[in-house]
Amino acid sequence: MSSVLVTGGAGYIGSHAVKALQANGTRAVVYDNLSAGHRAAARYASALVEGDIRDTPCLREAMREHHVDAVMHFAAWASVGDSVRDPSGYYNNNVLGALSVLDAMVAERIPHFVFSSTAAVFGNPVRTPIDETHPTAPINAYGETKLAIERALRHYETAYGIRSMALRYFNAAGADPDGELGEDHAPERHLIPRAIDAALGRDTFAIFGDDYDTPDGTCLRDYIHVTDLASAHVLALDALRAGAASARYNLGNGRPTSVKDVVGSVERVLGRKVRAAVAPRRQGDPAVLFASSARITHELGWTPAFEDIDVIVGTASRWRDAHPQGYGDRTAA
Ligand code: UDP
Repeated sequence: MSSVLVTGGAGYIGSHAVKALQANGTRAVVYDNLSAGHRAAARYASALVEGDIRDTPCLREAMREHHVDAVMHFAAWASVGDSVRDPSGYYNNNVLGALSVLDAMVAERIPHFVFSSTAAVFGNPVRTPIDETHPTAPINAYGETKLAIERALRHYETAYGIRSMALRYFNAAGADPDGELGEDHAPERHLIPRAIDAALGRDTFAIFGDDYDTPDGTCLRDYIHVTDLASAHVLALDALRAGAASARYNLGNGRPTSVKDVVGSVERVLGRKVRAAVAPRRQGDPAVLFASSARITHELGWTPAFEDIDVIVGTASRWRDAHPQGYGDRTAA
């Protein structure tokens, strides 16, 4: 029986995708070096291969052993701020790593690739909502690395016949509604878990800039539930297997939500105050980013199931409340 190789399947978004694949009757083999992922997050995988994506022979062996006929590639570094400080690390992991996966696919004749891309390929938007015709002009190394692979995909298709779907995530948020999977980054930098921790008195919270040209002065983003991202991956894979042409899709809710809106939501959902202080702007943050996901809705039938910010925050808070140590597998702080 064939299976999908899910690189980074022990990470935040990858683990939710593996659960969705399993629910769809698809075997998912997780390939992860567990540097940021968690063994327990791969609980829905049919197998877990511990390996690095830059290790092409190890990838090929896993592909052969598990009769892989498609790859979902999540394994990457994904912090905008870190990418500004460490472009070398980002190009190594995100460009060389992805090319290693693609080269293993070429060698093993695997024809389908679903790629984790990002809204960061667009840079500072020239218009919103951002649809797929918006120009790409990244303003940080993270966005550059993802765009480099999107571009490479065209050439890998022409030369080697690999068809692909690149999914540009806006702000992935929330946790598995069943409470089994969630977000566990070290250190945690994302807005929603940090605001929840502040409400629970576990952390202090800073609003990065309140002097943007937005209605309340804080950045507007588009928070999309991780389970909705997962369902988009299943649809993308099914479409590729059914013969669909390669495509790039933007994935968001299309609802601009400010940092202060998120803080308000956390306070409503938890019934506790978030003690927030205003801090300077964070480098590389555009004022406004939100998506039009009309294309994937129209072409693949994708619709988000968890649009309301309070519902998204609710799933995140249930996970965080029940798992103060995340998956509990960290050896050192
Ligand atoms: N943000 C904030 N305080 C935090 C973390 C994030 O004000 O402790 C802001 C950040 O500047 C951005 C938004 O929240 O405007 C979302 O940031 P996050 O890091 O969650 O995702 P990103 O937009 O970088 O993908």
